Amino acid sequence: MQKKKVILIFLGILAMLNILAWIAVLDLSGQKFLEVTFFDVGQGDSSFIETPNGFQILIDGGPSSKVLEKLGKKMPFWDRSIDLIISSHPDPDHLLGLIDVSKNYKVGAVVTNGTVSSRPEFLEFKNLLEKNKVPLIVLKKNNQILIGENLYFKILAPLEDFEGREVADFNSSSIVAKMGYYKSAFLFMGDTPKSVEEDLVLEDGALLDSDVLKVAHHGSKTAKSEIFYETVSPKFAIIQVGLNNQYGHPHQEVLEALAKYGIYTMRTDQEGDIKIISDGENLKILSNNKTF
Ligand SMILES: [Zn+2]
Repeated sequence: MQKKKVILIFLGILAMLNILAWIAVLDLSGQKFLEVTFFDVGQGDSSFIETPNGFQILIDGGPSSKVLEKLGKKMPFWDRSIDLIISSHPDPDHLLGLIDVSKNYKVGAVVTNGTVSSRPEFLEFKNLLEKNKVPLIVLKKNNQILIGENLYFKILAPLEDFEGREVADFNSSSIVAKMGYYKSAFLFMGDTPKSVEEDLVLEDGALLDSDVLKVAHHGSKTAKSEIFYETVSPKFAIIQVGLNNQYGHPHQEVLEALAKYGIYTMRTDQEGDIKIISDGENLKILSNNKTF
């Protein structure tokens, strides 16, 4: 099937889901919320999103099969499908778990930044998707995914077009996506570097405004931009990081900069899985150590 056709079908499915979401929004029982869980998968990123209408999205899969254990706890045993995977970039600490997920779950579609690689894990993931006939969708800056009424993803980066390109440093090709749900917003940064954070501020700072920031690159100082933190002005920052990792993440300078702007920071190496529930305006945080 031609890629264009696949995208049209995909967008068609999403348009249908709009109607479902609209019904969900009208449910006055107040039981339907957006749930975002930042998994503790060691040194790597993996976040699971369940929308009010039951659409399930996984952003990255972490460095190992640990993500399967996490999904097993989040999803009922009979639910063997994930609607959408967003692969921020193909570094192993984000990609390896996605291979396990693709072997164990029926995946609706995969969104990537379009980069290519000759690394074995990249080829294995690509072959698995082809074998399972999973639509692969390359999204670029300013593309949007509409999941339902007032629930969207907007792709803010990569700033360049990386489709078909093999780059030396995949971090700079990371998908940066803002997820908006009514008045609440989450910003997923992948491992994007400081230079991209600063360019995003220069381009359209107002667009960055979010309640929750998934801090770029596990809190590495190579991703620390104070002007970016000030512009995003999140209430909460999440750092997905492995306990006693060999890189020294998160760097002290990043923690200090976040604190300077009054941003409450939580780390998966200290909190375990961090769940944030949004009713479209208010957030509730649940982790092993905290509930507020
Ligand atoms: Zn990473």
